[in-house]
Amino acid sequence: MDKALETLRTVFGYDDFRHHQRAVIDTVVAGGDGLVVMPTGGGKSLCYQIPSLLRDGVGIVVSPLIALMHDQVHALGQLGIAADFLNSTQSPEEQQRVWRALEAGELSLLYVAPERLMQAATFERLRRVRVALIAIDEAHCVSQWGHDFRRDYLNLHRLAEPFRGVPRVALTATATPRTRTDIISNLQLSDAHEWVAGFDRPNICYRVHVKTDARRQLADFLARYEGASGIVYALSRKKVESTAQWLSAKGFNALPYHAGLDAAVRADHQQRFLHEDGVVMCATIAFGMGIDKPDVRFVAHLDLPKSVEAYYQETGRAGRDGRPSEAFMVYGLQDVVRLRQMVDESEANDQHKRSERAKLDALLGWCESTQCRRRGLLAYFGDDLSQDCGNCDVCLTPPEVYDGSVEAQKLLSAIYRTGQRFGAAHVIDILLGKTTDKAVQHGHDTLSVFGLGADIAVNQWRSIVRQLIALGYISADAQRYGALVLNESCRALLRGEQALSLRKDIKAPRGGRRRGSSPAGDLQGPQAELFELLRGVRAILASENGVPAYVIFHDATLIQMAVAQPQTASEMLALNGIGQAKLERYGEAFLEVISDFANAAG
Ligand code: ADP
Ligand code: ZN
Repeated sequence: MDKALETLRTVFGYDDFRHHQRAVIDTVVAGGDGLVVMPTGGGKSLCYQIPSLLRDGVGIVVSPLIALMHDQVHALGQLGIAADFLNSTQSPEEQQRVWRALEAGELSLLYVAPERLMQAATFERLRRVRVALIAIDEAHCVSQWGHDFRRDYLNLHRLAEPFRGVPRVALTATATPRTRTDIISNLQLSDAHEWVAGFDRPNICYRVHVKTDARRQLADFLARYEGASGIVYALSRKKVESTAQWLSAKGFNALPYHAGLDAAVRADHQQRFLHEDGVVMCATIAFGMGIDKPDVRFVAHLDLPKSVEAYYQETGRAGRDGRPSEAFMVYGLQDVVRLRQMVDESEANDQHKRSERAKLDALLGWCESTQCRRRGLLAYFGDDLSQDCGNCDVCLTPPEVYDGSVEAQKLLSAIYRTGQRFGAAHVIDILLGKTTDKAVQHGHDTLSVFGLGADIAVNQWRSIVRQLIALGYISADAQRYGALVLNESCRALLRGEQALSLRKDIKAPRGGRRRGSSPAGDLQGPQAELFELLRGVRAILASENGVPAYVIFHDATLIQMAVAQPQTASEMLALNGIGQAKLERYGEAFLEVISDFANAAG
């Protein structure tokens, strides 16, 4: 067996390489540079961890998130790998200890934040250490076009010269062609090999629904996720707080996370999310980058994110372990108007604002689309899915479409007759023929369109408004509180020269347990019981060792244990996710539970 495969099996306990892992590892071990684009959960870490073990010297991992270094290093420690980090949270003594280990050549991996790495003192001292490779994680941070631009990342090109001959590998989960070009040029990786794995995350089920009663919709959704970890995103801090309180009152282990909280509280909540089983984190987008907790079962959005990229990134935090997971979102027209306002009021220049608006429109278009969600999502990133996925709301409950030409005409003329000065609510009131004060005041109750759409319910009108916005026929002018205005392209519709097919909104299905949603997945009866026992031991071991439960073993590994019920160490080793070091550390404890269980049953 070759060295890379042997390391994968004995150290990490996995049978085979995934995606491009093999090719990346071979290239880097041989001294080549690379850019790796793999979806979240694809297995980017092994692409530099294994070469660090196989090459002489220490692998330096540039990572933007100090808060997470500790867990990463701990997880490696569990595998018997000598790893450490350097950052500002350490005392001078601790830092000295790390330097001594580095200089004695004892470390295989060192994690360091970019700003720290580029300090002259650190930089000069590292030059005298034998370096195996430099890995630049979250490499999209180097691109101004990316969603997490970090100025410190721009300096990283200065590593090229002094570390000539040391392979450098940049890794990211999201990179449009433009971001990729930026990464290559900003890091001066001109001879780099590029590996781009598809963007598909087949284990994530996408569900998008129109917001009717967000809380009830969320409660129905969460009913299937007892005991599971997940993230609930909302736009404002206030909503994050109130959602967390409400969920706690309903018995969920829910915590808030947003930039307005004290740093210590934030760190504590993040820690609890990582370490405890079944925490639901209610958060603004301030939460999540670099969180590599593998067993996040769902990501729910109570408000629309600002782009397809952001949506993909945020939902990508679900299901890194490859097990069934769900991305759930409710959205409404109000979200679009609010996000538009935020763009308009931002400090950015006009070009940037235009591109932000276009991104928002693309997301709305995707939400309103009648096409398979996954196909649409992948198409946005330039990937082609040859078939519908069968694992999204559109595929599972296909929306009905109808000829909406006449309704569209009615709506367009109502907008026109009322002077393109009013938001959706008023325009719809006019169509429904509601004699409101506002209608009377503006004389809209005398218009020919007044009451012209009374045959249709208010929700369906709202849906038509959103779809016409998504299709670009009309816009909601954020600067005028969402006033609806006609776009050039609506002329043909208005004149009846063009047919229009629209989707009927479907309500989110209520409650009921669906497959694969709980941590125990499909297990039933005694296997499910054993799984719970194994989870219990894992929780005890995790707290004794001060590590997150998944660092001991993933749910997927416990599921295999509950099914296979290994009796011996070598049977245990045959399971995916169990390497030599973990077997030695924990094998005994789990074998004991399994044999007790078998005896009690027998
Ligand atoms: P990324 O950084 O790309 O999001 P990670 O490197 O954290 O992903 O890997 C995601 C999960 O997949 C981890 O739990 C990891 O242990 C597991 N994994 C990685 N490579 C393999 C493999 N070849 N076989 C099985 N599991 C793997
Ligand atoms: Zn689909």
